[in-house]
Amino acid sequence: MRAGPPSRPGRVEVITGPMFAGKSEELLRRVRRAGFAGLSVEVVHHAVDTRRGAGAVSSHSGLEVPAVPVADVAGLEAHVAATRPGGLDLLAIDEAQFFGPDLVDAVQRFAGLGLVVVVAGLDVTFEARPFEPMPSLAALAESVTRLTAVCSVCGADAAFHERVVAGDRVAEVREARPELVGGAESYVARCRHHLAARPWDRG
Ligand SMILES: [Zn+2]
Repeated sequence: MRAGPPSRPGRVEVITGPMFAGKSEELLRRVRRAGFAGLSVEVVHHAVDTRRGAGAVSSHSGLEVPAVPVADVAGLEAHVAATRPGGLDLLAIDEAQFFGPDLVDAVQRFAGLGLVVVVAGLDVTFEARPFEPMPSLAALAESVTRLTAVCSVCGADAAFHERVVAGDRVAEVREARPELVGGAESYVARCRHHLAARPWDRG
């Protein structure tokens, strides 16, 4: 006879897609639901992500929850080990693309401890190429939600984002709103028809 499921069945849930797809919003929705269910939840983000302030994860629509900034995968593992050992139900990791390839195995180990691990991050570069570690994490997850943004040219589903190449415009923005440079203002959502450069086209 097969053994029944473990009492704390860990799992991996991936939320991914291009910029402006609402990944953080979906992550926060799941965090809120877990909170309503009385689960113990921890939200972490990479320390490099200071666009919207350290110590919080917020969505473009204004949702915000407290979050712990960590510097790398080793820091993440140390934090999980030190956080209510055995008492944590759900670990949410935002902007996961900053953690690099070591995150893939670390997330599997967290799930092995019985945690529900919700991982949100970009899986595509601004040059329309796969962006690790999210594609590998998606391959090893119980659930994958790939969100799209809205193409800023035509309004179709946008699976990509692209860097705004007009240097003048970036300089203009830098002058007026220095805090926006390097953030959302430098990128636009694009459907595949309106991508300026398609790396898979020959010649
Ligand atoms: Zn379009």
